[in-house]
Amino acid sequence: FCPQTRTFHSLRPDVPLPPPSQPLSITDYALSLIPQTASSTTVLIDYDADRRVSYSLFLQQIKNLASSLAYLTPLSKGHVAFILSPASLHIPVLYYSLLSLGVTISPANPMGSESEVAHQVELAQPVIAFATSSIAHKIPKLRYGTVIIDSPQFLSMTNGTSGSGNADNRGVRRVQISQSEPAAILFSSGTTGRVKGVLLTHRNLIALIGGFYHLRHLMYSPENEPDPVSLFTLPLFHVFGFFMLIRAISMGETLVLMQRFDFEGMLKAVERYKITYMPVSPPLIVALAKSELVKKYDLSSMRLLGCGGAPLGKEVAENFHARFPDVEVVQGYGLTESGGGATRMIGPEEAKRHGSVGRLAENMEAKIVDPVTGESLPPGQRGELWLKGPTIMKGYVRNEEATAETLDPEGWLKTGDLCYFDSDGFLYIVDRLKELIKYKAYQVPPAELEHILHTHPDIADAAVVPYPDEEAGQIPMAFVVRKPGSNINADEVMDYVAKQVAPYKKIRRVAFINAIPKNPAGKILRRELVDSALSSGSSK
Ligand code: AMP
Repeated sequence: FCPQTRTFHSLRPDVPLPPPSQPLSITDYALSLIPQTASSTTVLIDYDADRRVSYSLFLQQIKNLASSLAYLTPLSKGHVAFILSPASLHIPVLYYSLLSLGVTISPANPMGSESEVAHQVELAQPVIAFATSSIAHKIPKLRYGTVIIDSPQFLSMTNGTSGSGNADNRGVRRVQISQSEPAAILFSSGTTGRVKGVLLTHRNLIALIGGFYHLRHLMYSPENEPDPVSLFTLPLFHVFGFFMLIRAISMGETLVLMQRFDFEGMLKAVERYKITYMPVSPPLIVALAKSELVKKYDLSSMRLLGCGGAPLGKEVAENFHARFPDVEVVQGYGLTESGGGATRMIGPEEAKRHGSVGRLAENMEAKIVDPVTGESLPPGQRGELWLKGPTIMKGYVRNEEATAETLDPEGWLKTGDLCYFDSDGFLYIVDRLKELIKYKAYQVPPAELEHILHTHPDIADAAVVPYPDEEAGQIPMAFVVRKPGSNINADEVMDYVAKQVAPYKKIRRVAFINAIPKNPAGKILRRELVDSALSSGSSK
């Protein structure tokens, strides 16, 4: 902590990054880090089909696909590609190929409803989409259409049998990409309102991966550890899964991908592939700490869990530790807007700080700002966390107002999280000042659900707030004001919303009240509603 500037600086060694003026795509950077010795190593395993791909084949597939896309489609640098698919071996190939062409990738939740997808498409303005056959119908018509990922055509593009042969015969056109150019548009509602498109540049991703790469010797001790094999049950469209995927590949690790999460499948995968590492969100740690199924499987290969995306209760961490004393749980904290991990824990000593989310990531600065006075506060005091560093987003696409509200002119990102640092530089998340609800670490923007509730003819007014839940972390709860004469009940309210949103956004609790409390400017007093729900343990 620097008392003059009232700024916290990372305690990690500064990490050297390529000069920003050097043309470089995240694909070229990440692939250049893969150790030479990895070529015959398996990079990807498809859990569902038990199929393996080696690094050398993977690199060939990236080249083949990039070359096929450049020859067979009008796609070029500056275009945006929308991606709607569950996790599969195709996704990493697709990400790396498109990024090597300078095409901005915009992956979205395959569970999204048609109207949610339409909104995302409107934000990202893609010219083309890539989707699996069963969900492609959710995507509106785009200029260059939708490529079906699970089709023979796509397969021929990745294995080099489409058009005029593989990339080696045809050559791959090199595209020069500046680091400041857009790489990805991910979706987040930020501190308020509806979903927005978070623009991350190649530089943001290079800085993210570079940090992990240069500090890898602190994270792993390869002499006494088996080769890392990670299991990905996280969605690959969310910033956490997205950057962990790029990171693991650039380190030459082996990744097991599961199409959709199922708890017992995950246990089987750990046993079958001797998983050493899993990036997870807190509900999985809760389940591992409690479930009886755990006893049926040999999970002794597990060394490390990296947990993030939502708060991990101290008690949950302790219960987990009691059951799995040899598995280290390291916490990290970040936002889509910070390009992912802004803090993390490295090594067993830091992992012991239950309740904290670790220390600032390399090259990162922070302030704790009093939400009322705007004053920057010293260690031990609570305020809104502001972050600054090379991984912070460029802004929200086509939304200057929200960008200006979230990024100040000096580049500080206002996180909307109430936090404090202790005197050793560990960060603690105390509460969320922003509207966002996190159901099993998935983002649920209340504004979106309120908008839907307002369209119901029997509802006069409504507000949606988080309600604590042991398994999910939080569930969306609606406070509803009935129109005079209406008898609408809780189930009808829940059904009405459930039909229009992805399953994780469903309203799971309802209370009826006479009026929604608001301040004179018309802003919903959410804290008051949360407190009243908690004090009455209000009925469903
Ligand atoms: P997302 O953009 O979906 O990653 O959501 C970011 C938000 O999730 C943060 O602003 C926090 O409110 C919350 N969050 C992420 N990681 C953690 C964590 N380790 N502990 C507590 N909250 C977290």
